[in-house]
Amino acid sequence: MESVFSKIIRREIPADIVYETESILAFRDISPQAPVHILVVPKQSIRNLFAAQKSDQMILGELMLAAAEVARQQGLGESGFRLIVNNGEAAGQTVFHLHLHILGGSVLTPRIV
Ligand code: 5GP
Repeated sequence: MESVFSKIIRREIPADIVYETESILAFRDISPQAPVHILVVPKQSIRNLFAAQKSDQMILGELMLAAAEVARQQGLGESGFRLIVNNGEAAGQTVFHLHLHILGGSVLTPRIV
C-alpha cells in the first residue's frame, strides 16, 4: 500500500527536501524530535526491513551511506548523530515505507541502548 512518502517522492505533497539521488530522497521530519531530524528514504517502496529482500542489498547500503552524507552536510560531522529505524507497530512505525531517522544537533536523550 502507498504511503505519504511515495507522494513526497513524486512531489505530490510538499516536503523540505535536503538531499536527493537517483534512488534516495531525504527530507525534514514534519514533527521534529531533535534540532536536526531528517528522514532518509529509498524511492522504491519497501514496507520495512522485514519486507526487504536479498535483491535490496544495494539500496540498503546506499541508505546508510546517504545518512552519513546528509548528517555531514547538516553539520553533524563533529558532534555525531543517531540513526533510528522503526520496524512494525510495536516499535512505533507509523509510515510503512522504510526510512531512517537522522537525529542530531543536541545531546540526545533518552539513551535506550
Ligand atoms: P515512523 O514513526 O514510521 O518511524 O516515522 C514516521 C515519521 O514520518 C514521523 O516521525 C512523522 O513525523 C513523519 N511524517 C509523517 N507524515 C509526514 C509528512 O507528511 N511529511 C514529513 N516531512 N514527515 C512526515
